[in-house]
Amino acid sequence: MTPQHARWDEFCERLEGPERCNFRKVNGESRWTCKGGTDKTLATKILKTMGFTDPLIESSLDYFEEHGGMCDCEILFNVDRP
Ligand SMILES: [Zn+2]
Repeated sequence: MTPQHARWDEFCERLEGPERCNFRKVNGESRWTCKGGTDKTLATKILKTMGFTDPLIESSLDYFEEHGGMCDCEILFNVDRP
């Protein structure tokens, strides 16, 4: 999975959504859910539900890290909008 992939937008929408990072405004401030560090559990789960195989998921996560996406929210901040 990379931003060039046909389903990249679908992937990002799922990652931003209420079941995942849940981006929202609280008193005018942006809030979201992310464990931080190198935790990409949410992204991994989404890729799995999208039918990606383990080796494909692995190489996707490597790509995210190379482009500044160490954790779930950073994939949206750094990989989606470099
Ligand atoms: Zn994060």
